[in-house]
Amino acid sequence: MSPINVAKFGGTSVANAAAMNNCADIVLANPATRIVVLSASAGVTNLLVALAQGELDDAGREAQLAKLSDIQQTILADLGHPAEVTASIHDQLGEIRTMAQQASQQTDAELADRLIAYGELMSTRLFTELLRQRGVNAHWQDVRQLMRTDSRFGKATVDLNATRDLCQQTLGPVLGDTLVITQGFIGADGDGRTTTLGRGGSDYSAALLAEALDATSIEIWTDVPGIYTTDPRLVTRARPIPEISFVEAAEMATFGAKVLHPATLQPAVRQNIPVFVGSSREPQAGGTWIRSTTDTSPLFRAVALRRQQVLVTLHSLNMFHAYGFLAEVFGILARHRISVDLITTSEVSVSLTLDHTGSQSNGEPVLSDKVLAELSQLCKVEVENELALVALIGNRMSEVNGVGSRVFDALRDHNIRMICYGASAHNLGFLVKEGEAGQIVNRLHQELLD
Ligand code: ASP
Ligand code: MG
Repeated sequence: MSPINVAKFGGTSVANAAAMNNCADIVLANPATRIVVLSASAGVTNLLVALAQGELDDAGREAQLAKLSDIQQTILADLGHPAEVTASIHDQLGEIRTMAQQASQQTDAELADRLIAYGELMSTRLFTELLRQRGVNAHWQDVRQLMRTDSRFGKATVDLNATRDLCQQTLGPVLGDTLVITQGFIGADGDGRTTTLGRGGSDYSAALLAEALDATSIEIWTDVPGIYTTDPRLVTRARPIPEISFVEAAEMATFGAKVLHPATLQPAVRQNIPVFVGSSREPQAGGTWIRSTTDTSPLFRAVALRRQQVLVTLHSLNMFHAYGFLAEVFGILARHRISVDLITTSEVSVSLTLDHTGSQSNGEPVLSDKVLAELSQLCKVEVENELALVALIGNRMSEVNGVGSRVFDALRDHNIRMICYGASAHNLGFLVKEGEAGQIVNRLHQELLD
Protein backbone atom coordinates (compact mmCIF):
# COMPACT_ATOMS: atom_id res chain seq x y z
CA MET A 1 0.00 0.00 0.00
CA SER A 2 1.41 3.41 -0.88
CA PRO A 3 1.76 5.92 1.92
CA ILE A 4 -1.01 8.48 2.46
CA ASN A 5 -0.26 11.72 4.25
CA VAL A 6 -2.92 14.14 5.49
CA ALA A 7 -1.58 17.71 5.73
CA LYS A 8 -3.46 20.28 7.80
CA PHE A 9 -2.74 24.00 7.69
CA GLY A 10 -3.90 26.38 10.41
CA GLY A 11 -5.36 29.87 10.15
CA THR A 12 -2.07 31.80 10.07
CA SER A 13 -0.74 29.40 7.41
CA VAL A 14 -3.62 30.36 5.10
CA ALA A 15 -3.96 33.99 6.19
CA ASN A 16 -3.08 35.38 2.74
CA ALA A 17 -1.82 34.33 -0.68
CA ALA A 18 1.88 34.48 0.29
CA ALA A 19 1.27 32.21 3.27
CA MET A 20 -0.84 29.91 1.09
CA ASN A 21 2.04 29.66 -1.38
CA ASN A 22 4.27 28.33 1.41
CA CYS A 23 1.60 25.71 2.09
CA ALA A 24 1.54 24.76 -1.58
CA ASP A 25 5.34 24.32 -1.53
CA ILE A 26 5.01 22.02 1.47
CA VAL A 27 2.21 20.01 -0.13
CA LEU A 28 4.15 19.56 -3.35
CA ALA A 29 7.32 18.58 -1.50
CA ASN A 30 5.69 15.43 -0.11
CA PRO A 31 4.34 13.10 -2.80
CA ALA A 32 2.50 11.09 -0.12
CA THR A 33 0.23 14.06 0.64
CA ARG A 34 -3.18 13.17 -0.81
CA ILE A 35 -5.47 15.23 1.40
CA VAL A 36 -5.16 18.79 2.58
CA VAL A 37 -7.31 20.05 5.44
CA LEU A 38 -7.56 23.78 6.08
CA SER A 39 -8.67 26.13 8.81
CA ALA A 40 -10.31 29.43 8.01
CA SER A 41 -7.88 32.27 7.26
CA ALA A 42 -6.59 33.87 10.49
CA GLY A 43 -9.21 35.98 12.24
CA VAL A 44 -12.11 34.85 10.07
CA THR A 45 -13.72 32.45 12.52
CA ASN A 46 -13.64 35.12 15.24
CA LEU A 47 -15.41 37.55 12.91
CA LEU A 48 -18.02 34.95 12.02
CA VAL A 49 -18.60 34.01 15.66
CA ALA A 50 -19.23 37.67 16.48
CA LEU A 51 -21.78 37.86 13.64
CA ALA A 52 -23.41 34.61 14.73
CA GLN A 53 -23.89 35.87 18.27
CA GLY A 54 -26.16 38.51 16.77
CA GLU A 55 -25.38 41.19 19.33
CA LEU A 56 -23.89 43.81 17.02
CA ASP A 57 -25.80 46.87 15.89
CA ASP A 58 -26.05 47.62 12.16
CA ALA A 59 -22.81 49.61 12.06
CA GLY A 60 -20.94 47.00 14.06
CA ARG A 61 -22.18 44.27 11.78
CA GLU A 62 -21.17 46.19 8.67
CA ALA A 63 -17.70 46.74 10.11
CA GLN A 64 -17.28 42.99 10.72
CA LEU A 65 -18.56 42.15 7.24
CA ALA A 66 -16.15 44.65 5.72
CA LYS A 67 -13.20 43.09 7.54
CA LEU A 68 -14.27 39.65 6.41
CA SER A 69 -14.64 40.76 2.83
CA ASP A 70 -11.22 42.47 2.93
CA ILE A 71 -9.44 39.27 3.88
CA GLN A 72 -11.04 37.37 1.00
CA GLN A 73 -10.64 40.17 -1.54
CA THR A 74 -6.94 40.57 -0.78
CA ILE A 75 -6.35 36.90 -1.51
CA LEU A 76 -8.51 37.05 -4.64
CA ALA A 77 -6.53 40.06 -5.89
CA ASP A 78 -3.26 38.18 -5.42
CA LEU A 79 -4.72 35.30 -7.39
CA GLY A 80 -5.63 37.70 -10.22
CA HIS A 81 -9.41 37.66 -9.63
CA PRO A 82 -10.12 34.29 -11.25
CA ALA A 83 -13.71 34.48 -12.49
CA GLU A 84 -15.28 31.35 -11.05
CA VAL A 85 -13.81 31.56 -7.56
CA THR A 86 -14.35 35.32 -7.37
CA ALA A 87 -18.04 34.74 -8.11
CA SER A 88 -18.25 31.93 -5.56
CA ILE A 89 -16.64 34.03 -2.79
CA HIS A 90 -18.90 36.93 -3.70
CA ASP A 91 -21.96 34.67 -3.32
CA GLN A 92 -20.72 33.30 -0.02
CA LEU A 93 -20.13 36.78 1.39
CA GLY A 94 -23.71 37.58 0.38
CA GLU A 95 -25.00 34.51 2.19
CA ILE A 96 -22.98 35.45 5.27
CA ARG A 97 -24.56 38.92 5.23
CA THR A 98 -28.08 37.50 5.05
CA MET A 99 -27.45 35.04 7.84
CA ALA A 100 -25.78 37.68 10.02
CA GLN A 101 -28.94 39.78 9.65
CA GLN A 102 -31.06 36.79 10.65
CA ALA A 103 -28.79 36.17 13.64
CA SER A 104 -29.24 39.77 14.80
CA GLN A 105 -32.99 39.21 14.90
CA GLN A 106 -32.87 35.81 16.44
CA THR A 107 -29.97 33.49 16.67
CA ASP A 108 -29.76 29.82 17.45
CA ALA A 109 -27.04 27.23 17.52
CA GLU A 110 -27.93 25.74 14.16
CA LEU A 111 -27.80 29.09 12.38
CA ALA A 112 -24.53 29.89 14.17
CA ASP A 113 -22.84 26.74 12.87
CA ARG A 114 -24.08 27.31 9.35
CA LEU A 115 -22.61 30.80 9.49
CA ILE A 116 -19.32 29.94 11.19
CA ALA A 117 -18.63 27.18 8.62
CA TYR A 118 -18.09 29.74 5.87
CA GLY A 119 -14.56 30.49 7.05
CA GLU A 120 -13.30 27.05 6.06
CA LEU A 121 -15.54 26.87 3.00
CA MET A 122 -13.93 30.05 1.63
CA SER A 123 -10.30 29.33 2.55
CA THR A 124 -10.44 25.94 0.83
CA ARG A 125 -11.94 27.45 -2.36
CA LEU A 126 -9.12 29.98 -2.51
CA PHE A 127 -6.38 27.46 -1.82
CA THR A 128 -7.73 25.02 -4.41
CA GLU A 129 -7.59 27.83 -6.99
CA LEU A 130 -4.02 28.72 -5.98
CA LEU A 131 -2.95 25.09 -6.44
CA ARG A 132 -4.67 24.87 -9.82
CA GLN A 133 -2.83 28.00 -10.91
CA ARG A 134 0.36 26.17 -9.98
CA GLY A 135 -0.62 23.28 -12.22
CA VAL A 136 -1.84 20.88 -9.54
CA ASN A 137 -4.82 18.62 -10.17
CA ALA A 138 -6.60 19.80 -7.01
CA HIS A 139 -10.14 18.77 -6.14
CA TRP A 140 -12.29 20.84 -3.74
CA GLN A 141 -14.27 18.58 -1.48
CA ASP A 142 -17.15 19.63 0.77
CA VAL A 143 -16.25 17.83 4.01
CA ARG A 144 -19.92 17.85 5.03
CA GLN A 145 -20.35 14.94 2.65
CA LEU A 146 -17.73 13.00 4.64
CA MET A 147 -17.73 14.11 8.27
CA ARG A 148 -20.93 12.73 9.82
CA THR A 149 -21.78 14.09 13.27
CA ASP A 150 -24.65 14.20 15.72
CA SER A 151 -26.77 17.36 15.87
CA ARG A 152 -25.11 19.01 18.83
CA PHE A 153 -24.40 22.32 17.15
CA GLY A 154 -21.35 24.17 18.44
CA LYS A 155 -19.54 21.03 19.52
CA ALA A 156 -20.77 18.04 17.61
CA THR A 157 -19.60 14.48 18.16
CA VAL A 158 -18.36 12.57 15.13
CA ASP A 159 -19.87 9.26 14.07
CA LEU A 160 -16.68 7.36 13.31
CA ASN A 161 -18.21 4.45 11.44
CA ALA A 162 -20.39 6.56 9.18
CA THR A 163 -17.49 8.93 8.51
CA ARG A 164 -15.22 6.05 7.65
CA ASP A 165 -17.73 4.60 5.17
CA LEU A 166 -18.34 7.98 3.54
CA CYS A 167 -14.62 8.72 3.25
CA GLN A 168 -13.82 5.34 1.75
CA GLN A 169 -16.68 5.53 -0.76
CA THR A 170 -16.19 9.13 -1.80
CA LEU A 171 -12.44 9.62 -1.60
CA GLY A 172 -11.15 6.09 -2.06
CA PRO A 173 -11.51 6.12 -5.86
CA VAL A 174 -10.08 9.63 -6.46
CA LEU A 175 -7.15 9.67 -4.05
CA GLY A 176 -4.62 8.25 -6.50
CA ASP A 177 -5.04 10.91 -9.19
CA THR A 178 -6.11 14.08 -7.45
CA LEU A 179 -5.10 16.10 -4.45
CA VAL A 180 -8.15 16.59 -2.25
CA ILE A 181 -8.59 19.95 -0.52
CA THR A 182 -11.17 20.01 2.24
CA GLN A 183 -12.34 21.83 5.37
CA GLY A 184 -11.41 21.24 8.96
CA PHE A 185 -13.72 22.07 11.86
CA ILE A 186 -17.06 21.46 10.13
CA GLY A 187 -19.29 18.49 9.48
CA ALA A 188 -22.94 17.67 8.93
CA ASP A 189 -25.56 15.70 10.82
CA GLY A 190 -27.68 12.93 9.32
CA ASP A 191 -30.11 15.51 7.90
CA GLY A 192 -27.31 17.35 6.13
CA ARG A 193 -27.35 20.29 8.55
CA THR A 194 -23.97 21.95 9.07
CA THR A 195 -22.29 21.34 12.43
CA THR A 196 -18.95 22.38 13.97
CA LEU A 197 -16.56 20.42 16.18
CA GLY A 198 -15.63 23.19 18.65
CA ARG A 199 -13.03 25.94 18.35
CA GLY A 200 -9.68 24.84 17.03
CA GLY A 201 -11.27 21.64 15.72
CA SER A 202 -9.46 21.52 12.37
CA ASP A 203 -6.55 19.54 13.77
CA TYR A 204 -9.04 17.00 15.03
CA SER A 205 -10.74 16.88 11.62
CA ALA A 206 -7.42 16.13 9.94
CA ALA A 207 -6.76 13.26 12.33
CA LEU A 208 -10.29 11.90 11.86
CA LEU A 209 -9.95 11.93 8.08
CA ALA A 210 -6.54 10.28 8.36
CA GLU A 211 -8.06 7.56 10.50
CA ALA A 212 -10.98 7.06 8.12
CA LEU A 213 -8.65 6.70 5.14
CA ASP A 214 -6.02 4.52 6.82
CA ALA A 215 -3.43 7.24 6.29
CA THR A 216 0.18 6.62 7.26
CA SER A 217 1.03 10.09 8.56
CA ILE A 218 -0.54 13.37 9.61
CA GLU A 219 1.19 16.75 9.31
CA ILE A 220 -0.11 19.67 11.33
CA TRP A 221 1.36 22.88 9.91
CA THR A 222 1.06 25.93 12.10
CA ASP A 223 3.10 29.04 12.93
CA VAL A 224 5.65 27.44 15.27
CA PRO A 225 8.27 24.81 14.42
CA GLY A 226 6.83 22.11 16.65
CA ILE A 227 5.85 21.62 20.26
CA TYR A 228 8.10 23.51 22.67
CA THR A 229 9.36 22.62 26.12
CA THR A 230 7.14 25.48 27.23
CA ASP A 231 5.59 28.60 25.73
CA PRO A 232 8.54 30.49 24.14
CA ARG A 233 6.76 33.81 24.65
CA LEU A 234 7.02 33.15 28.35
CA VAL A 235 10.41 31.50 28.64
CA THR A 236 13.11 32.62 26.21
CA ARG A 237 15.09 29.41 26.69
CA ALA A 238 12.16 27.23 25.62
CA ARG A 239 13.13 24.99 22.69
CA PRO A 240 11.27 22.75 20.25
CA ILE A 241 10.99 19.09 21.19
CA PRO A 242 12.11 16.79 18.32
CA GLU A 243 10.00 13.83 19.45
CA ILE A 244 7.38 13.12 22.08
CA SER A 245 5.16 10.14 22.80
CA PHE A 246 1.40 10.10 22.23
CA VAL A 247 0.67 10.03 25.96
CA GLU A 248 2.94 12.95 26.77
CA ALA A 249 1.65 15.00 23.86
CA ALA A 250 -1.94 14.27 24.84
CA GLU A 251 -1.22 15.52 28.37
CA MET A 252 0.40 18.63 26.93
CA ALA A 253 -2.46 19.36 24.60
CA THR A 254 -4.97 18.90 27.39
CA PHE A 255 -3.01 20.95 29.89
CA GLY A 256 -2.36 24.08 27.98
CA ALA A 257 -0.03 23.71 25.04
CA LYS A 258 -2.03 25.50 22.38
CA VAL A 259 -0.27 23.82 19.48
CA LEU A 260 -2.73 20.97 19.03
CA HIS A 261 -6.43 20.61 19.65
CA PRO A 262 -6.57 18.15 22.58
CA ALA A 263 -8.73 15.57 20.76
CA THR A 264 -6.39 15.41 17.75
CA LEU A 265 -4.33 12.56 19.04
CA GLN A 266 -7.23 10.20 19.75
CA PRO A 267 -7.66 9.03 16.14
CA ALA A 268 -3.88 9.00 15.66
CA VAL A 269 -3.46 6.78 18.72
CA ARG A 270 -6.29 4.45 17.68
CA GLN A 271 -4.66 3.80 14.32
CA ASN A 272 -1.07 4.38 15.40
CA ILE A 273 -0.50 7.16 12.86
CA PRO A 274 2.56 9.35 13.55
CA VAL A 275 1.84 13.08 13.72
CA PHE A 276 4.29 15.78 12.69
CA VAL A 277 3.94 19.39 13.88
CA GLY A 278 5.88 22.10 12.07
CA SER A 279 5.82 25.70 10.88
CA SER A 280 4.58 26.43 7.36
CA ARG A 281 6.64 29.64 7.43
CA GLU A 282 9.88 27.80 8.05
CA PRO A 283 9.47 24.13 7.21
CA GLN A 284 13.26 23.77 7.08
CA ALA A 285 13.33 24.45 10.85
CA GLY A 286 12.02 20.93 11.43
CA GLY A 287 9.38 20.17 14.02
CA THR A 288 8.06 17.62 16.47
CA TRP A 289 7.19 14.01 15.70
CA ILE A 290 4.56 12.51 17.94
CA ARG A 291 4.58 8.70 17.94
CA SER A 292 3.57 5.78 20.09
CA THR A 293 7.17 5.10 21.13
CA THR A 294 10.08 7.52 21.21
CA ASP A 295 13.84 7.00 21.38
CA THR A 296 14.08 9.08 24.54
CA SER A 297 11.78 9.29 27.56
CA PRO A 298 13.10 11.92 29.96
CA LEU A 299 11.65 12.38 33.43
CA PHE A 300 10.70 15.98 32.58
CA ARG A 301 9.87 16.77 28.96
CA ALA A 302 7.91 20.00 29.14
CA VAL A 303 5.90 22.36 31.29
CA ALA A 304 2.46 23.46 30.15
CA LEU A 305 0.44 26.43 31.36
CA ARG A 306 -3.25 27.03 31.15
CA ARG A 307 -4.54 30.38 32.27
CA GLN A 308 -7.99 31.50 33.41
CA GLN A 309 -8.84 28.43 35.37
CA VAL A 310 -11.92 28.31 37.49
CA LEU A 311 -11.74 26.32 40.70
CA VAL A 312 -15.11 25.12 41.91
CA THR A 313 -15.35 23.82 45.44
CA LEU A 314 -18.50 21.97 46.42
CA HIS A 315 -19.33 21.34 50.07
CA SER A 316 -21.94 18.74 50.75
CA LEU A 317 -24.92 20.16 52.65
CA ASN A 318 -25.61 16.85 54.25
CA MET A 319 -22.44 15.97 56.11
CA PHE A 320 -23.74 12.70 57.48
CA HIS A 321 -24.78 11.21 54.22
CA ALA A 322 -21.67 12.00 52.30
CA TYR A 323 -21.72 8.83 50.27
CA GLY A 324 -23.23 9.27 46.85
CA PHE A 325 -22.30 12.94 46.89
CA LEU A 326 -19.62 12.63 44.23
CA ALA A 327 -21.92 10.53 42.08
CA GLU A 328 -24.57 13.25 42.21
CA VAL A 329 -22.07 16.02 41.45
CA PHE A 330 -20.66 14.15 38.48
CA GLY A 331 -24.16 13.28 37.36
CA ILE A 332 -24.98 16.98 37.05
CA LEU A 333 -21.72 17.74 35.27
CA ALA A 334 -22.22 14.81 32.91
CA ARG A 335 -25.74 15.90 32.04
CA HIS A 336 -24.33 19.27 31.00
CA ARG A 337 -21.45 17.55 29.23
CA ILE A 338 -18.87 19.35 31.35
CA SER A 339 -15.60 17.55 31.67
CA VAL A 340 -13.39 17.96 34.72
CA ASP A 341 -9.64 18.53 34.54
CA LEU A 342 -8.25 18.36 38.05
CA ILE A 343 -9.99 17.06 41.11
CA THR A 344 -9.25 16.66 44.79
CA THR A 345 -11.69 15.43 47.38
CA SER A 346 -12.21 15.22 51.11
CA GLU A 347 -15.00 13.48 52.98
CA VAL A 348 -17.55 16.22 52.45
CA SER A 349 -16.20 18.44 49.76
CA VAL A 350 -14.72 18.24 46.33
CA SER A 351 -12.64 20.78 44.42
CA LEU A 352 -12.43 20.68 40.69
CA THR A 353 -11.29 22.64 37.70
CA LEU A 354 -13.27 22.54 34.49
CA ASP A 355 -12.11 21.77 31.03
CA HIS A 356 -12.29 24.81 28.77
CA THR A 357 -10.57 23.24 25.82
CA GLY A 358 -12.77 22.50 22.88
CA SER A 359 -15.34 24.88 24.30
CA GLN A 360 -18.39 25.50 22.25
CA SER A 361 -17.88 27.21 18.92
CA ASN A 362 -20.46 29.82 19.84
CA GLY A 363 -18.60 30.99 22.94
CA GLU A 364 -21.05 29.81 25.64
CA PRO A 365 -19.40 29.69 29.11
CA VAL A 366 -18.64 26.23 30.46
CA LEU A 367 -20.15 26.89 33.87
CA SER A 368 -23.55 28.31 33.04
CA ASP A 369 -26.04 29.75 35.55
CA LYS A 370 -28.13 26.66 35.00
CA VAL A 371 -25.34 24.34 36.09
CA LEU A 372 -24.59 26.51 39.11
CA ALA A 373 -28.25 26.49 40.10
CA GLU A 374 -28.43 22.70 39.87
CA LEU A 375 -25.26 22.26 41.90
CA SER A 376 -26.50 24.71 44.53
CA GLN A 377 -29.50 22.49 45.20
CA LEU A 378 -27.10 19.79 46.29
CA CYS A 379 -24.24 21.62 47.92
CA LYS A 380 -22.64 24.92 48.80
CA VAL A 381 -20.77 26.12 45.74
CA GLU A 382 -17.66 28.29 45.91
CA VAL A 383 -16.05 29.59 42.75
CA GLU A 384 -12.49 30.97 42.65
CA ASN A 385 -11.07 32.75 39.65
CA GLU A 386 -7.70 34.14 38.63
CA LEU A 387 -5.94 30.85 38.84
CA ALA A 388 -3.62 29.17 36.39
CA LEU A 389 -2.88 25.51 35.90
CA VAL A 390 0.75 24.50 35.58
CA ALA A 391 1.48 20.95 34.46
CA LEU A 392 4.82 19.19 34.28
CA ILE A 393 4.86 16.60 31.53
CA GLY A 394 7.29 13.71 31.44
CA ASN A 395 7.77 10.02 32.14
CA ARG A 396 7.72 7.80 35.23
CA MET A 397 7.08 10.86 37.40
CA SER A 398 5.01 8.90 39.90
CA GLU A 399 7.60 6.12 40.13
CA VAL A 400 10.88 7.96 40.60
CA ASN A 401 11.98 9.03 44.10
CA GLY A 402 12.42 12.69 44.86
CA VAL A 403 10.26 14.14 42.09
CA GLY A 404 7.99 15.92 44.56
CA SER A 405 10.86 17.50 46.45
CA ARG A 406 12.57 18.72 43.28
CA VAL A 407 9.40 20.28 41.97
CA PHE A 408 8.20 21.82 45.19
CA ASP A 409 11.64 23.03 46.13
CA ALA A 410 11.58 25.06 42.92
CA LEU A 411 8.23 26.48 44.05
CA ARG A 412 9.12 27.24 47.64
CA ASP A 413 8.31 30.94 47.33
CA HIS A 414 4.80 30.39 46.01
CA ASN A 415 1.43 29.34 47.28
CA ILE A 416 0.04 26.25 45.60
CA ARG A 417 -3.73 26.14 45.68
CA MET A 418 -4.23 22.53 44.59
CA ILE A 419 -2.05 19.60 43.48
CA CYS A 420 -2.75 16.56 41.34
CA TYR A 421 -0.06 13.94 41.36
CA GLY A 422 -0.05 10.23 40.82
CA ALA A 423 -3.02 9.57 38.57
CA SER A 424 -0.72 9.62 35.58
CA ALA A 425 2.99 8.87 35.45
CA HIS A 426 3.20 11.52 32.74
CA ASN A 427 1.74 14.51 34.50
CA LEU A 428 2.07 16.49 37.71
CA GLY A 429 -0.32 19.42 37.82
CA PHE A 430 -1.05 22.23 40.23
CA LEU A 431 -3.04 25.42 40.47
CA VAL A 432 -1.32 28.70 41.25
CA LYS A 433 -2.25 32.37 41.29
CA GLU A 434 -2.65 33.68 37.77
CA GLY A 435 -0.29 36.59 38.48
CA GLU A 436 2.55 34.28 39.55
CA ALA A 437 2.18 31.74 36.76
CA GLY A 438 4.79 33.21 34.41
CA GLN A 439 7.41 33.35 37.12
CA ILE A 440 6.63 29.80 38.22
CA VAL A 441 6.91 28.38 34.71
CA ASN A 442 10.25 30.13 34.23
CA ARG A 443 11.52 28.77 37.49
CA LEU A 444 10.46 25.20 36.74
CA HIS A 445 11.95 25.35 33.26
CA GLN A 446 15.21 26.65 34.63
CA GLU A 447 15.47 24.03 37.38
CA LEU A 448 14.11 20.99 35.56
CA LEU A 449 14.41 21.51 31.82
CA ASP A 450 17.35 23.80 31.04
N1 ASP B 1 -11.41 27.97 12.26
C1 ASP B 1 -11.74 27.26 13.47
C2 ASP B 1 -11.32 28.09 14.67
O1 ASP B 1 -10.77 29.14 14.53
C3 ASP B 1 -11.15 25.91 13.53
C4 ASP B 1 -9.65 25.84 13.49
O2 ASP B 1 -8.98 26.79 13.09
O3 ASP B 1 -9.11 24.81 13.88
O4 ASP B 1 -11.59 27.70 15.77
MG1 MG C 1 -5.78 25.87 15.28
